Amino acid sequence: MRVLVVEDEIGLAEAVGAILRKEKYIVDIANNGKTGLEYALTGEYDCILLDIMLPGMNGLDVLTYLRVREIETPVLLLTAKSEIDDKIKGLDCGADDYLTKPFSMGELLARIRAMTRRKGIPVDINPKYGDITLDLKKGEIICGTLT
Ligand code: CA
Repeated sequence: MRVLVVEDEIGLAEAVGAILRKEKYIVDIANNGKTGLEYALTGEYDCILLDIMLPGMNGLDVLTYLRVREIETPVLLLTAKSEIDDKIKGLDCGADDYLTKPFSMGELLARIRAMTRRKGIPVDINPKYGDITLDLKKGEIICGTLT
């Protein structure tokens, strides 16, 4: 399970990273929005923890960009703001959940487990219907047998 942590408070990012690694997650940390977006665009993560207030590019912009690019990785927004507007905005931008700082590590882990469970059954990247095969990675339909 790979988790991306996008958080500019280095101390918090490192603490979260250390706890996740202890729980056997593979963790990458980005300390600003642009680096976070770059990492997230690889689509290699099972879950992204995304701070809203980030230097350069804020979390909501990162999230919007990811969803436009059809990166559907579950996103948990971390926000220091408790204003309801930001939560609504975040969820409307495509976040799966959010946590208001300060949060307990126990709750963070539980929410990550819940989000990654919701991801559901892994998608078959080559579904077949009779002699027609769909290659979802290349976006091709192949008639006849694959060689
Ligand atoms: Ca921040």
